[in-house]
Amino acid sequence: MALIIQVEKDSFAYNQGFRTGEKIFKINGKDINDQIDFSFYSSDEYLFIKTESLEGKIKYTEIERDYNQALGISVYPPEIENCKNKCIFCFVHQQHRGMRKSLYIKDDDYRFSFSDGNFVTLTNLKPHDWKRIYTLNLSPLYISIHSTEPDVREQMLKNPIARKIKEQLRNLSKHNIQFFTQIVVCPDYNDNEHLDKTIKDLIKFYPNLIGVAIVPSGLTQFRKHLPYIKPWDKELAIKTIKQVEKWQANFIIYQKNQFQHQNIMMSSIFLKMVWEQQVIFINTLINIKKHYQKALIQKEK
Ligand code: SF4
Repeated sequence: MALIIQVEKDSFAYNQGFRTGEKIFKINGKDINDQIDFSFYSSDEYLFIKTESLEGKIKYTEIERDYNQALGISVYPPEIENCKNKCIFCFVHQQHRGMRKSLYIKDDDYRFSFSDGNFVTLTNLKPHDWKRIYTLNLSPLYISIHSTEPDVREQMLKNPIARKIKEQLRNLSKHNIQFFTQIVVCPDYNDNEHLDKTIKDLIKFYPNLIGVAIVPSGLTQFRKHLPYIKPWDKELAIKTIKQVEKWQANFIIYQKNQFQHQNIMMSSIFLKMVWEQQVIFINTLINIKKHYQKALIQKEK
């Protein structure tokens, strides 16, 4: 069941008698469980809708409209599914206390990946979720990969289900689902040869693979209950940028051998930008530290 959060005044649905607060049970015989079902099944021109009115009466409405005529109904978004991981770099466990509540939500919900571009790990999906992704063709999805090597990914996400990522990507590809991916690089976990291996594995999924964003792990002073991760320094960042730049060149050659694909090109540019920003950030930190040390030495003198 999906609850109607708003019916736009004078919209097509409003004129058909739909009102805010009513419940939608079925459209054309299909169960409506949330916003995704509603968007998918309400896109037909002919609709037979089963609802419950504000007074608790079941009603059936038959609608025929032009394909471009908006209904004017919004339904409540689903409750967010939480993640089942304990990632070593989890940003939620690195937040300062007392921030806004949404910053402490450990969300991992494929529905919001599809609708809002949130990254998911695919470790909490049940068989009916997979079926739904394939049936409704929820594409593209945004997937946090981190590593395609089972041992490394399990070690980083602290979840044995994380090992299945390649099999999951293969299944998504078989069902024509496309995906953006991201790799959070943690020094001594998934960098160097591990990073090469992961990128190499991911490229094989092109054209289902739309992009790879590579971001460095972030550490804060509020980090709690997480294992040690080596901090980034300038040398390590530059080394990794160079490693990634080689892959950019490979992407371009790969593209030339395949069809031109603007998105891969864009993501490799994006990837470079993220790293360059990180180097600027690290350089700034180093300069601040040097400046501070110099001031201290002068003070001691
Ligand atoms: S998936 Fe990992 S990083 Fe994201 S919220 Fe869960 S534990 Fe934290």
